[in-house]
Amino acid sequence: PRLRPLALLDAGQAMFRLDRFARRVEREEPWRTDRASESDSETFAAWIERNVYTQQVRRLLAVPCKTLWGAEPEELSLLYTGAYVRGAGGLNRLLDTPRGAQESRFVGGPNLVARRVAEELGDRVRLESPVARIEQAEHTVRVRTPTDDFLARRTIVALPPPLVDKIEFDPPLSAERQALNQRMPMGRLMKCFAVYPEPFWRDDGLSGEAVSDSGPATITFDTSPPSGSPGALLGFVGAAEADALARMSDAERREAVLEGFVRLFGPRAAEPDDWILQDWPAERWSGGGPVAYMPPGVLTDAGRALREPSGLVHWAGTETATRWTGYMDGAVRSGERAAEEVLAALD
Ligand SMILES: Cc1cc2nc3c(=O)[nH]c(=O)nc-3n(C[C@H](O)[C@H](O)[C@H](O)COP(=O)(O)OP(=O)(O)OC[C@H]3O[C@@H](n4cnc5c(N)ncnc54)[C@H](O)[C@@H]3O)c2cc1C
Repeated sequence: PRLRPLALLDAGQAMFRLDRFARRVEREEPWRTDRASESDSETFAAWIERNVYTQQVRRLLAVPCKTLWGAEPEELSLLYTGAYVRGAGGLNRLLDTPRGAQESRFVGGPNLVARRVAEELGDRVRLESPVARIEQAEHTVRVRTPTDDFLARRTIVALPPPLVDKIEFDPPLSAERQALNQRMPMGRLMKCFAVYPEPFWRDDGLSGEAVSDSGPATITFDTSPPSGSPGALLGFVGAAEADALARMSDAERREAVLEGFVRLFGPRAAEPDDWILQDWPAERWSGGGPVAYMPPGVLTDAGRALREPSGLVHWAGTETATRWTGYMDGAVRSGERAAEEVLAALD
């Protein structure tokens, strides 16, 4: 939406205040932040209500939430929101393209990282082999899948907490760790691509990047290849909009998202040559995305269990990162931290 000057000022002061709040959050142990239980009992929506004065900016602040967490401001703990912003070095770094989270794209797609690492590891990587049960004895841990059985001195589980909850542990995990697994839902985020013969929006001087409060795709990007052909528009559909799309047929989803693209980029957006919608919440082994988030009360009640090893089981995954939580960067950092823990334990 076009922002009136007053709304622009309001957005600026709200972002300044949120960054100031985030800087006060303890990055490594947010539950130790001053008045942590107070801000963890509040939602981000309540903070918006108190700190934002115009209706337009209140609505606008919900837009990045839908994509950053796949959740509405009403679903997020304020303390958790602050910790997440702190971990990225400020709200602008989460939102921005230059010098921000959206600055770079992988030529060939981000799954190349996993594919290349898997090539190096060879047959040590087992696909189609989900872990169903983890048993711990005094000095060994046994990891069972429907087809395999691994015995180790330590194991690292790199899953979002709600997916950890689907694994059976013997002995059971601590009450605190179980609470964490059960009380962190996955965000709901879908990713849509519409492919056109060319990036026609550039002819009209448009970048293809949009923030919209009318959806269903509330954030869009031009994801055409460097050659400029074909033209590709990417739209993120998150939280309430993803819930609404989940109830539609494939044809209705396509129509609803393309109608939104037409409002933003004109009638040529209505007829793409190709169309792909990736419905992450429908993926059994992801359960949603981009991250498992924390509603009020979870960080102060059970946050300590995020990285605390459970006996011989160590925890990794982007949710456990203290920098760039929710991002690939955080996932890699968490893997390095967990590997160091295991090496130190085996010394
Ligand atoms: C639409 C969307 C857009 C995103 N955009 C960005 C972006 O622009 N930049 C960015 O940095 N991040 C982005 N992310 C977030 C990024 O994908 C995550 O931060 C990252 O994948 C987290 O890595 P991870 O290793 O912690 O967990 P995951 O990538 O979730 O890996 C967990 C793995 O465990 C597997 N698994 C599940 N259950 C079991 C089981 N029982 N046994 C064995 N394996 C199991 C899963 O199949 C999965 O492969 C996006 C996410 C989504 C959904």
